[in-house]
Amino acid sequence: MDEDVQQTTTVANVFAPIGDESACLHWLWTTLYAPDGVSTVCRHCRVMRRFHRVSRRRAYACDHCGTQVYPTAGTFMQGSGLGVATWFAAAWQLMEGDANVAPRALADELSVSYKTALRIKRKLEEALAPGSADAELLERLRRDAGGPGVAAAGVPARDRSSRARENIRAAACRAFAARGPSATRIADIAREAGVSSAIIHYYYKSKDEVLLAALQWANEHTSRQLHELRQETSDPIELLRRTIDLAIPSEGVLREEYVLWIETWARVRLHPHLLAECAAMSEGWVTFFQQLVEDGAAAGVFHPVAPAAEIAQRMVALSDGLSFRSAIGYTGMQVQRVRELLVSFVAQQLGVPPGALAER
Ligand SMILES: [Zn+2]
Repeated sequence: MDEDVQQTTTVANVFAPIGDESACLHWLWTTLYAPDGVSTVCRHCRVMRRFHRVSRRRAYACDHCGTQVYPTAGTFMQGSGLGVATWFAAAWQLMEGDANVAPRALADELSVSYKTALRIKRKLEEALAPGSADAELLERLRRDAGGPGVAAAGVPARDRSSRARENIRAAACRAFAARGPSATRIADIAREAGVSSAIIHYYYKSKDEVLLAALQWANEHTSRQLHELRQETSDPIELLRRTIDLAIPSEGVLREEYVLWIETWARVRLHPHLLAECAAMSEGWVTFFQQLVEDGAAAGVFHPVAPAAEIAQRMVALSDGLSFRSAIGYTGMQVQRVRELLVSFVAQQLGVPPGALAER
């Protein structure tokens, strides 16, 4: 795989504001996939896992199944044998230095050939163009690498604290999922996060708040998957089929999220401020389904039996109800059964053949 091409030793492989090649890759990894540096949703396990850096590859692998993520994939750096640090240094030059830098000067600065500098410059000009898929990534690089308010360590204080929070939220999610929220103590979360209990108390007033934060973390990951799904397909049937897969706790997967949901709901009565947060997360699902129904109807593929907003509420309510039963282990509520019931209901509501939504 060309992602693994060893970069030539002549290339300057340090981008000072972020660090050496490995630090630059890590920045990309945390920016695009794992805000806490270790946790992201594994596309094979379909649940949040810990990942580790794969040595001598530009990749991180799932601790559980070994599935790898290449952070440069899908970016302007994909398929390039040049180091991430070299790309960052070049991008910095175009963003913060001279946008019209001559290829010869760029070649000297990066210690690459004239031809390579020309190619880098052309590629970056595309990536920096308004509306390009990479524009946001490069803007984050610009922000993280410099600008006012950068602390001595090279990371703005605000970002440091948000990273600490990300780390705690991800660790809490893993700890709650492993032991169940009732049996999980703040000390357990602190150990999982590699920080002291005092740090957890500094960010969160109570275990309930940590629980909510963990649930939000899990929910944000699901939202991200829904967003990616939309980028991958615009076929309403395909989108619906795959959204159903994300909505139910398939093969124990996403079960943790449902268990966190149940625990959080149980606490709403005693802590009313949790209610708004829970409602907002449910609303995210309703909005997504509603949009899906509207788009499918506009395309003439769906023939909804009621207004889209109402169908979306029904779908989420049924999906929640069946999934909760499945997650806590009702007999006869295996994931397969939940899926069948949901599919036949959704098919009926939208006037599509159930076979079209069958699992593949
Ligand atoms: Zn995995």
